[in-house]
Amino acid sequence: MIQTIPRTMFAWRKHRGNMKPIWEQVSVSQAPPTGFLVKMLAAGVCRSDHNLTTNEDQPAWFQDRFTLGHEGCGTIVEIGSHIPSDAGFEIGDVIALLAVPGCGERSCDECKNELQQLCQRGHHSGIGQDGFFAPYATIDVRGAVKVPKGVTPSQAAVATDAVTTAYHAIHRRGQIQSHETVFLFGLGGLGFNALQILRAIGARVLVSDVKQDMLDAARDLGVHDEDIVPIGKDVKEWCREKGWFGKVDVTADFVGVAQTFSDAQFLVRQAGRMLCVGTLNHHNEVHMKIGIRKRLTIIFSYGGQTRDLEDVLELIARGVLDPMVRDAKIGDLPIVMDALQKGEVKGRIALVSQPKPVGKL
Ligand SMILES: [Zn+2]
Ligand SMILES: [Zn+2]
Repeated sequence: MIQTIPRTMFAWRKHRGNMKPIWEQVSVSQAPPTGFLVKMLAAGVCRSDHNLTTNEDQPAWFQDRFTLGHEGCGTIVEIGSHIPSDAGFEIGDVIALLAVPGCGERSCDECKNELQQLCQRGHHSGIGQDGFFAPYATIDVRGAVKVPKGVTPSQAAVATDAVTTAYHAIHRRGQIQSHETVFLFGLGGLGFNALQILRAIGARVLVSDVKQDMLDAARDLGVHDEDIVPIGKDVKEWCREKGWFGKVDVTADFVGVAQTFSDAQFLVRQAGRMLCVGTLNHHNEVHMKIGIRKRLTIIFSYGGQTRDLEDVLELIARGVLDPMVRDAKIGDLPIVMDALQKGEVKGRIALVSQPKPVGKL
């Protein structure tokens, strides 16, 4: 069947000077020479979409107007002229779209050191350049990963950021092993995926969150009651009572407020690791005496890479990971962003053109 690709479409865009996403008519691009044009199937809404819309203090590559959305999944409808026919991609393939796959040039300090997610030269879908909250989008082949059977488009979309970021932090940066005990702060969009990834490794995970339903969800996953900090309980006190104070191998902070960052320095054992992913507070304090005396390692992690996305999709296909995601209509972006901002969303929401009913957000 020959697909007719429209010339124009409506997309959710950021305009410099306007702090709300704008539903605007734009033209549909052609496939870039080294990439694809895809018909979007699902696009995940991230907390950072709010920041991208309202914070204009951004890097130089940010365009004055761009289409938002940096977690995507779509069907290939056009293949770029420089993609060889044996590259393994065909029209009709469903692919997950990694927003920042890097430029891949050997002259790029980031890409040559396997730091693609920090590359400034490559395209940044939905982060200052056109992304996925639209019926059609383009992607470079470096950011395209075929979606295995058994993974839904919404799962694949949220896998590209929320799951891949957690996976990269835990495996590549934290290098967390099965014999280690991890204290996990925060079971939100990323943290709950982190919990599943850690459990798949076989590590023991102690969890805290401010929401009872997320602690219940952790229990449903198999976390024992004795490893769950009750709501309202002081984390340091709980660790003292349970014998974990100064004994935890790794803290994984998916919140990043003053309290969690401070607590982590007390909980972690001598020569332990503090893995930092959440950034709710822009500034946190290092207790120099504790850090040096215990010889701690603070590890920051940011984003993920195509190889992480490949692993993650495979784990979802095998049922090892089950990202929490529900569908909403593409037109509902402002409502979803608002609900996310108010902390009313459990897990993630993906925008699709024909959603299943979701009930309350
Ligand atoms: Zn994001
Ligand atoms: Zn690069």
